[in-house]
Amino acid sequence: MNNTPLLSAVDLLKTFRVSGQNHSSRTLTALDLVTLHLSAGETLGIAGESGCGKSTLAKVMAGLLVPDAGSVLYNGTLLSQLEQNDKITFRRKTQMIFQDPFSSLNPRMRIGDSISEPLKIAGIPSLQQREEVSRIMAAVGLPGDAVNRFPDEFSGGQRQRIGIARALAAYPDILIADEPVSSLDISIQAQIINILLQMKIEFKLSMMIVSHNLLVLRHICDRIIIMYLGAVVECGPASELFNRCRHPYTEALLASIPGLNPASTPKVELLRDDLPSALSIPPGCRFHTRCRHAVELCRREVPKTIEYASGHTAACHLSGSLYG
Ligand code: SF4
Repeated sequence: MNNTPLLSAVDLLKTFRVSGQNHSSRTLTALDLVTLHLSAGETLGIAGESGCGKSTLAKVMAGLLVPDAGSVLYNGTLLSQLEQNDKITFRRKTQMIFQDPFSSLNPRMRIGDSISEPLKIAGIPSLQQREEVSRIMAAVGLPGDAVNRFPDEFSGGQRQRIGIARALAAYPDILIADEPVSSLDISIQAQIINILLQMKIEFKLSMMIVSHNLLVLRHICDRIIIMYLGAVVECGPASELFNRCRHPYTEALLASIPGLNPASTPKVELLRDDLPSALSIPPGCRFHTRCRHAVELCRREVPKTIEYASGHTAACHLSGSLYG
């Protein structure tokens, strides 16, 4: 049995230079030693506040950004060592959909042409292209006459369906979605989530979904990774993370969801202060400036990542004593 993950990352580091005053520049750490894997057929959620590195992680995993250090592996092979043909295969097999699908569509291109582009590149004959486009459009709930229309004639929800259809036309193994529903109305969100779930089965996809909305991730994901200031602080099966989290940051995120679990509504504020800047990450445990449990050790020593249950890890000095 092959246990090699479909897509994995080891110790990813990604920084950006940011212009400061007087022509100075500073380093923003977007990803700091991030390790993860996506198994075949799995849906993995990536959660955390804005600015925690989720979108950067999605782009690095999709091969759209190159990490400063660390590795991304596709089927066990380093992306950096893929032969040219395998690189092309990886790009086709790993598709990304974005929060704003409009930005990834050519406004002057008819929808049918946009969706058929990957088929054209793959050398599929025209007649078959048209048949495939019709089939995929029907699968994502787009009307047949949409082929001859332009992106600005569609609503936000329809544009996201177009983005999904375009990604599916490449017949990917992996779909990486960056906040796919966050700009949509609640009722439309549910429709798009259901389409993703259906397409996962129909196209035998593995998915990585980036979202700040933990309820969306609980609904759609097998496992969830919680990120804080560029690092993974907890990772575990979705149901276990909701029922028995192992990190104070996850606990705070769950407690902030209105009506999730009224019985456990905290009597004290679980998140102190604002999110620090990724330009100056606190030493020791990076969460210590906001953690109500922080002790001296937390301020000076980076906590190790420990597996507390099968596939459930957390990086907190006090996780064992806080959560049993
Ligand atoms: Fe809080 Fe300390 Fe755990 Fe960090 S290591 S989450 S500061 S208790």
